[in-house]
Amino acid sequence: MTPRSEIFEVLAKVCADPMGYARAWKTRTGRRVIGSFPMNFPSEMAHAAGALPLIIQEAEDPITAGHGLLFPFYCGFTRSAVDQAAKGDLAVLDAIMFGDHCVQLLGAADAVRVALPDTRVIFFQLISSMCDPWTLGRSKESFEKLRFELEDFIGEPVRDDAMRASIALFNRGRQAMRELYRMRVEGRVALTAREMQYVVKSSMVMDRAEHLELVEALVASASENLPQPEKRAVRLHLSGHFCQAPKPELLDMIEGCGAIVVGDDLYHGYRYISTDVGEEGNPMDSLARWYLDRNTGVPCPTRVQNDVDWDAFLLDAMRKESAEGMIVLMAKFCEPHMYYYPEVKEAFEKAGMPHLLIETEHESMALEHMRTRVESFLELIKRRRGVARANTPEGEVA
Ligand code: SF4
Repeated sequence: MTPRSEIFEVLAKVCADPMGYARAWKTRTGRRVIGSFPMNFPSEMAHAAGALPLIIQEAEDPITAGHGLLFPFYCGFTRSAVDQAAKGDLAVLDAIMFGDHCVQLLGAADAVRVALPDTRVIFFQLISSMCDPWTLGRSKESFEKLRFELEDFIGEPVRDDAMRASIALFNRGRQAMRELYRMRVEGRVALTAREMQYVVKSSMVMDRAEHLELVEALVASASENLPQPEKRAVRLHLSGHFCQAPKPELLDMIEGCGAIVVGDDLYHGYRYISTDVGEEGNPMDSLARWYLDRNTGVPCPTRVQNDVDWDAFLLDAMRKESAEGMIVLMAKFCEPHMYYYPEVKEAFEKAGMPHLLIETEHESMALEHMRTRVESFLELIKRRRGVARANTPEGEVA
């Protein structure tokens, strides 16, 4: 069995250079690579078309060539994606597909088209109102149009049985990753937030069968040499960051202050793997259903749904994870997050649940300043623990 350290070495390498992985895969297989933007493109469709589906990632590089193409007050993810297009870093992609989950993404789509005139950019619109009687039908229509565009691009039909096989493979991948999440919350595996990010982020890039093998090996070897968790470490939930992975050094800093991350709803985390697609029947029906179910499973502030609440979901998730506090990671200029955050704040204050907002940036982050805030936040939670213990009747275990 591949040792855990070797598995993480592979995953970390993919995360550090997604386009390098894609280039090597393309040379090895001679097949197409289809890029997509977060968060709603069903990668199963591109996989069923014989391509490598790759979710475009925010790059580490400073933004230079892309400066003139997008406003500086757009989020780091969109600016980085446009910058990568302008620098030619996305040249490995045969096509790019994206839906319209926010205004900034729409702007980025146009800028990418300008920067890559020879690359097929396929745009699809998904209904954002999630609980109308016509939502399911309209979602299916959008995915059918997307399939039509994809078939036009590859020059042949994408067969239903290929779609079902891809859906089954992706489901197995999501299930294996969710098992790691379950094991982490139950203390059956020691995984840092950085390692969990490697697991999920690499799944957005790698050949899915190859990735599945590695994750299943991680699950199988999880209980070996399990380090004892630090008893006084504060159990945290991380929330936010819809389109880009939080910088690993930020995650290290948070855990280095005396916390363990036990759950999250990050896109490069549980949000991405939360929901499986039905494996029976018409795959387009299943994808449309998946689109709706995902928003019930982990609500997204870019969608509108009257009968689910992101804040209620967060409080419930934290109860299940026995999390003692939440750190909200908000990408600077992310409008959907900024609009919704006041509701989360109000709900958490009402519930008496501690949370800390950290705004993140593409360019640079004052980690030392943030460390002070995180340390104070964790200290506050530890004091609450002390108060709770003092108020526990004698003889009861707090
Ligand atoms: S949802 Fe937020 S992070 Fe994602 S593209 Fe829109 S503004 Fe950027």
